[in-house]
Formats: sequence, structure tokens, C-alpha cells
Amino acid sequence: MRTIQQNLQDVRNRIATMSQYCARVPEEVTLLAVSKTKPVAMIAEAIAAGQRAFGENYVQEGVDKIQHFAALPEGTALEWHFIGPLQSNKSRLVAENFAWCQTVDRLRIAERLNDQRPSTMALLNVLIQINISDEQSKSGIVLDAMPALAEAIVALPNLMLRGLMAIPSPEVVYPRKLAVLGQMNDAFLALRQRYPRVDTLSMGMTDDMEAAIAAGSTMVRIGTAIFGHRDYSPA
Ligand SMILES: *Cc1c(COP(=O)(O)O)cnc(C)c1O
Repeated sequence: MRTIQQNLQDVRNRIATMSQYCARVPEEVTLLAVSKTKPVAMIAEAIAAGQRAFGENYVQEGVDKIQHFAALPEGTALEWHFIGPLQSNKSRLVAENFAWCQTVDRLRIAERLNDQRPSTMALLNVLIQINISDEQSKSGIVLDAMPALAEAIVALPNLMLRGLMAIPSPEVVYPRKLAVLGQMNDAFLALRQRYPRVDTLSMGMTDDMEAAIAAGSTMVRIGTAIFGHRDYSPA
């Protein structure tokens, strides 16, 4: 059995290899370890192997883990990202616990996060989630609607707009996949041109990490390749 430490090293090597292949520097690509459904013992192993940024999809599960590690010395250095679909009635827990929310896709959620962010905490970093290729999905806004939402978010004092996030649907045809990822990068570069503090394009998971890095991603969200397959069956 491979350890989490070995898995993390493999993923870091994949990021470095692909970055070099694309004439990018590996430091441009942040590795977010997606720990949803995984126990704190596995997260602790990843921390021991040097990982600091973690992504969680379910609000209460994420808050429980944040609070678990906050009580430990190593907890202070961690950076928690909320990456799941966000319902209005859960926004307060996200605003009060996470450093980032990657799934802002409507003004109402942004306003709630802004109102609920405690003034004692740093600004909440947010990404706008784009629905780039999956018409079935209810998450994310279409690209055409993004500039107006970005303008509204930039005006909210407790939020810091950092960029864009997408979960492209799996594409069988490689040129089609590259076209979708390239559309995201074009939108990201245009947004960064307009708002210089924008620096994050979050795309790429275990199965499309290399293609996403080639297309300009600055943050890959990796679960399976680090922690193994997830088991959703009832305990
Ligand atoms: C689960 C999840 C991931 C990680 O997916 P893997 O295929 O396990 O790497 C990344 N991003 C989001 C939004 C997720 O929900």
C-alpha cells in the first residue's frame, strides 16, 4: 500500500513535470488537497508531509475538521477552502470558518458571505464558479454573466475576489477538452487584466490535472490521487 506521503510526492512530481513541459514554473501551481469524506488521521498524515491547503465540500464536515486542527499546534498554518455547492442557510458557517470560498455563483451568496464574515478575520478569498461545460449542473454561472458578478463582488468590503473556478464535465475528445479549459483561461486573463489582485484559476482534478496545467490553471484540486478513492456507502 502506498502512503499519503508517497502519493503527495507523486502529485507534486506530476505538477513539476507538466509545468516544465509547458514552460511554466511549478510554484505557479498551488496544490489543494481535497479531503472530503476522509478522516482527520489521513489529513494529519498529509500535514506531516508538508501539505497546508485543504479543500472540503460539505460545510459541517469541513467545520468539524477545521476546529479539530485549530486546537493543535500545526492547525494554525493550515488554509481551508470550501469547494462544495453552497446553500444560503449554510453561508454563515463558511464565512466564520474558511479562508476561501471557491463556489460563489450568485450575488445573494456573495452578499451573505460579506455580511457574515467576522471583522476579526482576514478578508474571505472568493472565486466565482463558472458553469463551463455542463448544462445539467445547477452550480456555477455562465461566462457571459461573470463580469457583472465580479464587479459586484469587488465592491463588497469583506471579500477578496481572487479569480475563477470550474469543474469541467469529463470530455472524451481531447481537443474539445482543451477548448473548454482554454475558454476558462481566456476569461481568467481578462479578469486579471481588469482586477490586478486576481491571481487564481482553480481547475484540474485527479483525472484532468495535466490538461488543466497546460491550459493555465494556477490551482489544482486533488483528492483521489492523494487520499485514494472515496467511499460514499453508508457506514
Ligand atoms: C471531489 C472534488 C475534487 C477532487 O476530485 P478528485 O477527482 O478526487 O481529484 C476537486 N474539486 C471538487 C469541486 C470536488 O468536489
